[in-house]
Amino acid sequence: MVYTGHGKGKTTAAFGLVFRALGHGWKPAIVQFIKGKWKTGERTFAESLPARNIDLTIFVMGLGFTWESDDISRDRRAAQEAWQTAAALIASGEHEVVVLDEITYCFHYGFLELQSVLEALRTRPSHVHVVVTGRDAPQELIEMAELVTEMRPVKHPYEQGIPAQVGVDF
Ligand code: ATP
Ligand code: MG
Repeated sequence: MVYTGHGKGKTTAAFGLVFRALGHGWKPAIVQFIKGKWKTGERTFAESLPARNIDLTIFVMGLGFTWESDDISRDRRAAQEAWQTAAALIASGEHEVVVLDEITYCFHYGFLELQSVLEALRTRPSHVHVVVTGRDAPQELIEMAELVTEMRPVKHPYEQGIPAQVGVDF
């Protein structure tokens, strides 16, 4: 499944799917290809779940990295580490749903090779649903997917000068 486009709602759609999966007793996993220094509501919530015996695996790229420099090789390493984790989660067959949140930008920056990701998707256990989010999904990924939704921006508060809002945007 691919949620792409420039409109808001890609990541939240993927998290809605995870919520649904949990309701069926599944063990979804999320790998976020975003710089881990941002403390989002979803991350805080996910971190509180083990204590409640809810089985959601979440890995945020680059936690443990400092991000202080604009070191492009560090970004690349963090992205590759996140992909190693994601590939293992997919291949294990232990997670019926695996979300690769924001992975598309790793292709655009050349941090990850599209072909190796496509190969991992092609050879995944057949019961594993993989959800990819991010703007400008590569054409080959769109062709491989069974479901592609493009979020189209109609209005966004940002255009009226309203900055990112807590609980809404992060
Ligand atoms: P969300 O996480 O809210 O579902 P998203 O995953 O679709 O959004 P991204 O492309 O990942 O959107 O961008 C993340 C941030 O950018 C969010 O805070 C979102 O509100 C903001 N954003 C998304 N679309 C737009 C837009 N068309 N104009 C301005 N900001 C946007
Ligand atoms: Mg997003």
